[in-house]
This record gives sequence, C-alpha cells and structure tokens, in this order.
Amino acid sequence: MPRAFSGIQPTGDIHIGNYFGAIQNYVKLGQQLGKQAIYCVVDLHALTNPAAYDRDLLASRTFEATLVNMAAGLDPEQVILFAQSDVREHNELAWIFTTQTPVGELERMTQYKDKTSKLESVPSGLLMYPVLMAADILLYKADTVPVGEDQEQHLELTREIARRFNYHFGDTFPEPQAVHAEDALRVPGIDGQGKMSKSKGNTLGVLEDFASIWSKLKVAPTDPARIRRTDPGDPHHCLIYHYHKLFSDPGVTAVVEVECARAGIGCVDCKKFLMTGVERSLTPIQDRARVLRADADVVHGALERGAREAQAIAAPVMQEVREKIGLVR
Ligand code: SF4
Repeated sequence: MPRAFSGIQPTGDIHIGNYFGAIQNYVKLGQQLGKQAIYCVVDLHALTNPAAYDRDLLASRTFEATLVNMAAGLDPEQVILFAQSDVREHNELAWIFTTQTPVGELERMTQYKDKTSKLESVPSGLLMYPVLMAADILLYKADTVPVGEDQEQHLELTREIARRFNYHFGDTFPEPQAVHAEDALRVPGIDGQGKMSKSKGNTLGVLEDFASIWSKLKVAPTDPARIRRTDPGDPHHCLIYHYHKLFSDPGVTAVVEVECARAGIGCVDCKKFLMTGVERSLTPIQDRARVLRADADVVHGALERGAREAQAIAAPVMQEVREKIGLVR
C-alpha cells in the first residue's frame, strides 16, 4: 500500500483555498490509506520565519492548525497526525542529509531565492529548509506526497537526496512522487486577482464570521461585461460562479448558470444564494472547531498519540540509517 506524507503549516488561519486545495485531499487520502496517511504540523519549518520567534505564538499556531484540520474532517483516529518537533528523528535525518547535499543545489531553489531576495541577513535554516522537508518525507519512506505545484522543485530535490543516499549506502529510500488535488488547488481570491493567498489578503477564512464573509462577497467582482442588471452575464467569467461550484448544490449552480446567461438573476441575489451554500458548508466545521476549542485536551491528546505512532515508524528507519552510515559500531 502506498504511504503518503504531507506537511501542514502551523497556522489556524485556514482559508477556503487551503480547505478545497489541501485539506479535502488529505481527508480523501486518509479514507483510502488509513494509518498510511501521515500528516505533520511542521513547527520546525516555521522557525525559519522570524514571525515565529515567539514561544506562545508558535505553540498556539501549532495547536490551531491541528484543531482546524480536525474540525475540517481530518480524523486522528484514522490517520497519523502529529507535530514535527515531537519526533526528534526529523532533526537527526535532516542533519545527515545536510552533510550530503551540495550548497549549490540548495541555492538554486526558487523559493529560497524568492524568500531571501529582500533579506539583509539570511538565516541558514532557510537554505536548509528543503533538506528538512526531504527528511520529513523520507523518514517515513513515504512514496506519495500531496503538495501544491509550488513544492514540485523541493520534491525533485528530495528524490535527488534519496538517490544519492541509496547510491552511497545501499537501497534505503523510495523516490516519492507528488499527487496534486485536481482543480481545487486554484481557488481564486475574493478580489478575482489570481489564486487565494494569505499574503495577498484576498481570502475567505474557514472559521471566519459569516457577517465578515458576506461583507467581502457583497463587494466581490462579478463578470466585468455585465454592467447593468439587464445585461446577460457569462458565469464562466465570474468568480462567484466558481465559488458556487465549490459551495452550492449542483441544482443551484445549474440554475445560476442558466439564469445569469439570460439576465434572469441579479448579482446580489446570486451572491445571496452563494452565501446560503457557504453557511451550509462551513457551519459544521465551525461548530466542530468550537467544541474542540472548549476541550483542548482532545487536540493535545491527538498530537501525543500521533507522535507515538509516527515515532514507531521513524525510529527503525533512523536506526537503519545510523547503521548504514556507520554511526552504530
Ligand atoms: Fe456572476 Fe452570478 Fe452575477 Fe452571473 S449572476 S455575473 S454568476 S454574480
């Protein structure tokens, strides 16, 4: 059976792009793979961001990320869900890979160049970020990695690191492949300017108050060619129609498609129909989040159990690595 690994950024600020693009994919893989689906809240990676130089903030973000993913359907009874810093083998394997990875390969990473282009002083952790990511994946000998297309270059480096290790020390690691969530990865932002992203400030939060979501939807752009209420629209050029496909019943979406094209519906009413679908979809997630927040021990308990399960896989792999490279005499 394949084994999947994915890192979850420690943030509770999950937007619907994350939900449809990543979390739903995690849930689906979890239903297929059970405990062979391994999800890790990557708090060690977060340390490369100076914003994480705050003990309470990082701890609460790790907690929130776990809580939101659980509320959104990730079941820690079904999959392995844990925090990276709870399994010390991640650091150990990352160091071993660091000693084997040329600096030039790391400096070529596009994300490294992007993140450091405006920094006066570059923390070396930023350079090593993809090495730690390789260790995260290979520590579990995972062969399947649900990631965004923006991580493809890091995954290629992971394969290169696995190949190099296997060449020098004998066949040990698989060469993991990416699986991308279909169209859901490209949820457009509420401003209609490309992909939804926190850095662009164009998000709808999964846990966001409905009044706040409505205030954003009310002013969201629609088909630019539909100037007057009597103008027929083209729903395929409209952000709101895209959201209908994510949130509304297929019957409602079909009516919107027809009525928009013959000017039978106004954009405000169309947005109100959408809001009904948004509330119906997000209410159960927000309710579960409230319940989990009221009983934090459930979240902490899930992370503790997840760490034990992850370590049961990681420890023998790490022992195999130590023996192969000569750290066990
Ligand atoms: Fe978009 Fe709906 Fe207005 Fe058509 S009616 S342009 S789909 S908001």
